[in-house]
Order: sequence, then structure tokens, then C-alpha cells
Amino acid sequence: MTGSFYPPQRTLMGPGPSDVPARVLGALARPTLGHLDPLFVGLMDEIKGLLQYAFKTRNELTLPVSAPGSAGMEACFVNLLAPGDTVIVCANGVFGGRMKENVERCGATAIMVEDEWGQPVSIDKARAAFAEHPQASVLAFVHAETSTGVRSDAAALCALAREHNALSIVDTVTSLGGIELDVDGWGADAVYSGTQKCLSCVPGISPVTFSPRAVERIQSREHKVQSWFLDMQLVMGYWGGNSKRAYHHTAPVNALYALHESLVMLQDEGLEAAWARHARHHAALVAGLEAMGLSMAVAAEYRLPQLNAVNIPAGVDDAAVRSALLNEFDLEIGAGLGALAGKTWRIGLMGHSSRERNVLTLLAALESVLGRQGAAINSGAALPAAQAILAG
Ligand SMILES: *Cc1c(COP(=O)(O)O)cnc(C)c1O
Repeated sequence: MTGSFYPPQRTLMGPGPSDVPARVLGALARPTLGHLDPLFVGLMDEIKGLLQYAFKTRNELTLPVSAPGSAGMEACFVNLLAPGDTVIVCANGVFGGRMKENVERCGATAIMVEDEWGQPVSIDKARAAFAEHPQASVLAFVHAETSTGVRSDAAALCALAREHNALSIVDTVTSLGGIELDVDGWGADAVYSGTQKCLSCVPGISPVTFSPRAVERIQSREHKVQSWFLDMQLVMGYWGGNSKRAYHHTAPVNALYALHESLVMLQDEGLEAAWARHARHHAALVAGLEAMGLSMAVAAEYRLPQLNAVNIPAGVDDAAVRSALLNEFDLEIGAGLGALAGKTWRIGLMGHSSRERNVLTLLAALESVLGRQGAAINSGAALPAAQAILAG
């Protein structure tokens, strides 16, 4: 007979999910309410307010889509695009490529602005794409490319879209709660995120927010949104403001308790304090890795503090190192993706995983595993270097 499943306690330092704090897991286990119970409806309103805080927006249409980040991505594209539209898609990693897929499945044309993996999106190339395709109605880009560990200039890209009377679609799955994100300040129009990265909530929910301009475009659509489930006009009947709530789908009630708890934790810490914590632990990790003799894959000015791409030293067996970390230290780090497979490791310091304990544990474990592989590293240098930053 099949029995219960008891997972081990891993330390999650990959590209997500991140460590979920006991407080959030505890919220998940509270009694299930009906999805139209007045108490649950009150909780929905609180979640909306907390998401507006986290996104730095006053957008009315701010809610958690009941499915993972990829569904939030799809929700933005299917609601803003119609067949025949032209969309400028900036791609500098895996997730930009997925945006192209979304555009084409909407019957629209994707104009690709490609940048090398490991580089940020080029504003000049995006500007040139608008000059060549002035009819483009949307500019889409990834703020924090989790596949490479690179941050792009979201404020400049959103401003560029506005200059050309286009809407912006912004992937902030890895940004929310980890680095500066300012939806209203940037003038971003359709923004989606995830729960399992810097919010350190369980996977499977996607916070989204739409500007008044984006809502106008949704309300003036002539084509039905191709996805029934993700059609925001229908979802608004359940999540919408003061009007009576109507059943659309059964909300993931307990998962939303968890999201609420993680957002309360973010509010209690303070957005700016959370960003500063991510920056501090990133600096300590980099100091430790460099003291060990390793090098970072991304230039310092574009690095994401929550996702650290590290060059794998020559002669080191990538998969063997990751297996040893997982099996002997219960510690997960990410492999390189696509063009970077076998070349980099991706070390996540996201949300609750962005802690002193995790930085020091990772450095000690990696040094031990690399030492046994005979890699040419400086033994004993990493922890003092990291500690010097943490003490500063
Ligand atoms: C993780 C991630 C996604 C996809 O989120 P899922 O929850 O896995 O569907 C999209 N974009 C970026 C930048 C991500 O890091």
C-alpha cells in the first residue's frame, strides 16, 4: 500500500521555489473556508491591498491568478492582444522566448529584440524596433531574467513603450519582493509575478496588476479573449471591487491564506528593508565565492541579488557537484539553462532563502564538495570574506 509522503527539509537555493517559512506553511494548514464565505471575501480584499503595496501601485485590477507564474504571463498576453497585433518582444534569456510563444499563439506578430544571454535588454535596440514597426501596440520584456541572473532597466523600457503609445507587459516573477519594483513609478501596464521566488510562498499563484490604460484596452476588445479561464473581464466578476462576487472558479483558498501570510511578512519587514536584505546577502555571497577563487557570470552592474550566476570552474563535474550538495547537504542550487547549461550554476537567495545562514551554509558546502573534486580553490577564505561583509 502507498503511504504518506514526508519530504526532507531541503535548503532551497535554486531559481525557485525558495524556502517557505514555517509561518507561511502554518497558514496553509488553517481550516478551509468556502470561496464565497464573507470572511474569505474580506481576506481577498486584504490580499489585493497587500499586493498593491508590494507592486507599488494603486491599480484597481490587482489580484492573484489561481495558477503559477506562467499563467500570469499568459493572462497578460491573452487579455491585451488580438489577432493581427504587432508586439515587440525583448529576449535575453529563457523567459523572453516564452513571451514570443504567447504572442504567436494569440495570432499576433512578435518582433524580436534579441540580446545575448547574460546581457540586459538593449534600450537602443528596442527603440530601433519601434522606429521600424510604429504600429506595435505592446512592448514585452523580463525585468529579472532568472535564466541568466540579469536585471534590465524596467523604468526606461516602460517609458519607451509610453513614448510610442504602446502598452508594456513586464515579467516581474523573480523581482517582486527582491529588488526595486515600482509599477506606478515606471508606468508599467500589465505586470505579472509569482509566489515561490522572493515572496517565499508556496508555488502555484501568480499576482498580476493592470494599469487603467490596460483595463481600457481590455474593456474595448472586439475579439473574445481566447482563454476562458484567464479572461480578466470574467475573473473581475469574482475578484472585482464592490460589486457582488460571482462564482468564476474555486479559489485556491488555503494557498491564498499562505500568500496573505507571506505578504503580511513583507509588509512587516518593509519593502525597502527586504530589498536591502537581498542586496546585503548577495554581497556576502559574492565576496565568499570570489575569495574561494570562483567568478561571477554577470557584470556587477546588471546582477540580480536574488539569482547569482557563477561560472563553473574548468574540469569540475557540474552534475556531480549539484548532486553532492543535494544528497549530502540537502541543499539545492540551479543548473545553467540553454546556452549556459554546464557553464554556470544559479544560486538563489530569494525571499526567506536570503539569510546569513544560507549564505554561510552554501559557501561551506560548496567548498567541501569542490575540494573533494580536486578543483583549484582557495580553502578557508570564503567564510571570513562573507562574514566581513555581514559584520559591516
Ligand atoms: C519562474 C519564472 C517564471 C514562471 O513561473 P512559474 O511559476 O514557474 O510558472 C516566469 N518568468 C520568470 C522570470 C521566472 O523566473
